[in-house]
Amino acid sequence: MDNSRFAAVEKAFGREPVKAVPPGANVSDYYGCNVFNRKNMRRYLSQETRRSIYESIESGKTLDISVSEHVAEGMKRWAMDMGATHYTHWFQPLTGGTAEKHDSFATPYGRGESLETFSGALLCQQEPDASSFPNGGLRNTFEARGYTAWDPSSPAFIIGDVLCVPTVFISYTGEALDYKTPLLRSKAAVSKAASELLEYFGMRGANVESYLGWEQEFFLVDSALFSQRPDLMLTGRTLVGHESAKSQQLDDHYFGSIPQRVLEFLKDLEIECYKLGIPVKTRHNEVAPNQFEVAPVYEEANLAIDHNLMLMSVMKPTAKRHGFRALLHEKPYKGVNGSGKHCNWSLGTGDGIPLMAPGKTDAENLRFLALTVNVLMAVYKNNSLLKAAIMTASNSHRLGADEAPPAIMSVFLGSQITSAFEQLLESKNMVKIGKRSGYSLGIPHIPEILVDNTDRNRTSPFAFTGNRFEFRAVGSSANCSSAITMINTIVAEQLKEFKMRVDARIADGAQTERAILDEICMTYKGCRDICFEGNGYSEEWKAEAARRGLDCETSVPLVYDALFSPRAKELYADTGVLTETEKESRAEVLWEQYGRKIEIESRVLSDMTLNHILPVATRYQSVLLDNVSKIKESFPAAEFRSLASNEVELVRDISYHISEARRMAKEMDALCDRLARVVEERVRSIGFHDEVVPLMESTRQHVDALEMIIDDQMWPLPKYREMLFIH
Ligand code: ADP
Ligand code: MG
Repeated sequence: MDNSRFAAVEKAFGREPVKAVPPGANVSDYYGCNVFNRKNMRRYLSQETRRSIYESIESGKTLDISVSEHVAEGMKRWAMDMGATHYTHWFQPLTGGTAEKHDSFATPYGRGESLETFSGALLCQQEPDASSFPNGGLRNTFEARGYTAWDPSSPAFIIGDVLCVPTVFISYTGEALDYKTPLLRSKAAVSKAASELLEYFGMRGANVESYLGWEQEFFLVDSALFSQRPDLMLTGRTLVGHESAKSQQLDDHYFGSIPQRVLEFLKDLEIECYKLGIPVKTRHNEVAPNQFEVAPVYEEANLAIDHNLMLMSVMKPTAKRHGFRALLHEKPYKGVNGSGKHCNWSLGTGDGIPLMAPGKTDAENLRFLALTVNVLMAVYKNNSLLKAAIMTASNSHRLGADEAPPAIMSVFLGSQITSAFEQLLESKNMVKIGKRSGYSLGIPHIPEILVDNTDRNRTSPFAFTGNRFEFRAVGSSANCSSAITMINTIVAEQLKEFKMRVDARIADGAQTERAILDEICMTYKGCRDICFEGNGYSEEWKAEAARRGLDCETSVPLVYDALFSPRAKELYADTGVLTETEKESRAEVLWEQYGRKIEIESRVLSDMTLNHILPVATRYQSVLLDNVSKIKESFPAAEFRSLASNEVELVRDISYHISEARRMAKEMDALCDRLARVVEERVRSIGFHDEVVPLMESTRQHVDALEMIIDDQMWPLPKYREMLFIH
């Protein structure tokens, strides 16, 4: 690579938002230019320092403080050369999103002089005043200290003029206050358990990684319309709005050609991503109008999650530059599809052997079946916990709403893998997993196409897709750590248990392969009920799932109760991913967040109803009444009734909706006031779920009915048909 060319491109548009790509620049010229990656380390760190840091990344060894001094110095020089003036510890609090507090490199000293400094100590650890981050009671206010500690496995990067150092966030007493800490623990747990199992397959000491490829869905809305919708601005979704006559019925948006204005935004977004080393690969229209998806090439899970959070951050300012707002909420509009973030998860070895794909030999396939059956069992045993990991106020609008997976966790394996397991049960011997077979299209110049090992089933929350599992229940706005941590944890525990059982069989005299085969059969028999290949949206499935004993709970606050089950206690005790205190504090935060989100929504809705909608409704009503009086003045009494009947009826309808909407809005406010006094988070969030949410629904019905009656010219909010289409 020509370094001078690289430096020129980097200087030209490393820091500033990209307006235009310099002529002739390829992505490879600037890919990762805002990341302290190995290429940049080579330019700023000595070989010795680099060796220590690579070792620490690969083997999780703690970096020596003297090495971190060198790293800090090199990082600072690089960041300053790139125009950065500040640094921050970048972390992932339980609020969702990311947190940062900028400190300047400039350090005054002596009399009126200043020096740019950044030390190893500052790189490794900071103490943000963290008392206002949610902690579920972990930190009393008198001990509000929290610490951030550097995670060298995810490289530092620059956004704007700030050097961002990825960190974990922990309390004074060492408890996790963020998403990253448990994720790293879960990665270690599953890596250990899987690599121990791989010993049976002649892979002693294999370094197993968990991989993630996310698919980020989102909506775009014109900025001007967005700023006229208080609900979108304050809650991220529309709380009222009648469905557009045309929405997604024609399926004409999915994979359609991307509107030019959106394409310009996506190109710009991709450039921002490439500069940050986010390997985005795929972009396309989604099912709903104005809904899109961006997906990268999968990466090791910790990095993939940081990259997803970075994407979500850069998406917002990039959209603004194009006159859009990016909506990451799971359900911005009623009546059209919501947004998810499918998480494609797999295990593989660090040197590239995929472990979740059928192989070419019997031995590889046995390994594949052993791992897969344990994923099945893990999801079966922990289906309630898996749901608790992805359920939120905003995601609850998607799940079970005929467009996304139902709020019941099940696994789709596809006919080929299912039949492999079924045959295994029958024959008790190793089976062939159907080779990928080809379709001849009968058109000579078009080559045979390969058919995947799996069918596609879009209604399943957890589907095997050939070389990975696709967890589709994750919400678009979520930090996918929560989901991935849970998958890693439950799989880690299950793999350990499986290995113990196989070991016991071997100790009893069974030959290794026999022991594994028998244990696969036992495990599969025990968890077959988690497999479901039919239509997950159907009513029959809900009934069937209940019969099978799967968790069918849909109330968000009650879903979190799973965290207090004996199963959860055992799981965390066994894997050490969360301590009891950490787990309890997380549940507190989840309940608290649910209650707060609903409270904000209901207060915004009541405000919009009382201050925006009803005054307009009343005004239109008086226009109608005016008309009625004029008819009365202008026409003989005999004709009046028939001439004015339409207006009179409308006035009655409007009165009805006004009085109902007003009554409900006031009732919502009163309920919120009452619930604000409830101390226990769980009880409060149940109150919001059971009492406030249904009232919000009914208030909306009246407001939406008014939207259909009132003069379009007078309606104070942009309508769905205006917001949903970009031309
Ligand atoms: P879909 O057809 O499901 O929409 P996409 O191409 O949008 O597929 O996204 C699939 C995602 O799965 C990509 O991020 C891709 O890199 C990722 N992926 C592919 N193979 C694996 C694997 N073995 N492990 C984890 N993720 C994978
Ligand atoms: Mg996709």
